Amino acid sequence: MTPAAYAVINLDAVQHNLNKVREIAPNAKVMAVIKANGYGHGLLRIAEALQTVDAFAVARVDEGIRLRKAGFQHRIAVLEGFTCSEELDDFLLYRLDATVHCDLQLELLAKRTEQDQLSVWLKLDSGMNRLGFKKNDFAAAYQRLSQCPIVKNPIKLITHFANADDKNDPKTLQQIDCFNALVADYPGERSMANSAGILGWPTSITDWIRPGVILYGISPFADITGEELGLMPVMELHSRLIAVKHLDKGDSVGYSGSWTCEQPTTLGVVAIGYGDGYPRYAKIGTPVLVNGQRVPLIGRVSMDMLTVDLASQPDAKPGDPVTLWGQGLAIEEIARCTDTIPYTLVCGITPRVQIIED
Ligand SMILES: *Cc1c(COP(=O)(O)O)cnc(C)c1O
Repeated sequence: MTPAAYAVINLDAVQHNLNKVREIAPNAKVMAVIKANGYGHGLLRIAEALQTVDAFAVARVDEGIRLRKAGFQHRIAVLEGFTCSEELDDFLLYRLDATVHCDLQLELLAKRTEQDQLSVWLKLDSGMNRLGFKKNDFAAAYQRLSQCPIVKNPIKLITHFANADDKNDPKTLQQIDCFNALVADYPGERSMANSAGILGWPTSITDWIRPGVILYGISPFADITGEELGLMPVMELHSRLIAVKHLDKGDSVGYSGSWTCEQPTTLGVVAIGYGDGYPRYAKIGTPVLVNGQRVPLIGRVSMDMLTVDLASQPDAKPGDPVTLWGQGLAIEEIARCTDTIPYTLVCGITPRVQIIED
């Protein structure tokens, strides 16, 4: 019997999505973003499936170390860089690329005498106002960095978009212009585009692209699904019914009795909840597939279970298969029903969920 709650990870879909990215940006090098445990899909599993990319990007140094220790020889960029000298030692030991985005990092680098040991991505804050040197500080940061013996030349150049998922927001073009203007005189390779940039902003495609969510088959845009973009969803989340019962008009369901039956109701109990990463704030009416057919969520999602209205499936019985997202039920739709984005759903899958590779 299948586990009570499991995720199927379709590795062929990863390859399909990567091919799609390469079709869109045939001349760019691909830095596959596999931070946060490969967006919840499994860091090493996804790295394995993406062997042919030109580089990996992770957020933190420990993620990079895990990849190296597993034997991956690719360029690995650590998007948050380092915050102390010990962490910098790990970049050298494990040959990780560092993002340099603040003065403290410049100071730590200036103290080092090793020659040409560290590849760096100098980050411009072109408008996201998170990591990176502001416009007016960028040239000075470049100068200081280029004088550090430990830094390999040429220095690579990077920025990140704040609003690229909104195709009508002029901010992305402003960020592209800002970046191009500031790096114009420097020789290093450039990188701007995340998934939304790759799909929505052709002029953001430069030497290196940084696809994340699209590799997992998920749309970066709110108004269109991955499938509609020609991507294949990588993760499906499944469970099963563990009880079916008949409730009377006026019976209330679950914690706080947040749902009360307005008529006699056939209730299905599904063995998955927020303890597995299914969102607790899924609204009443969020679709769930039981035996491949849509039924609405009712009541509150609890830790181990959730409940559905089986009015359209009077013959459903314990053991019947349930899909929370996947084939026939886009994760983008579930995200909308939960006032979130699909990124949080895939990242939120907990270790209790068994992973089945397909
Ligand atoms: C997470 C991240 C990406 C990938 O973003 P997606 O929207 O998933 O494509 C690219 N660049 C940076 C700096 C990131 O932090």
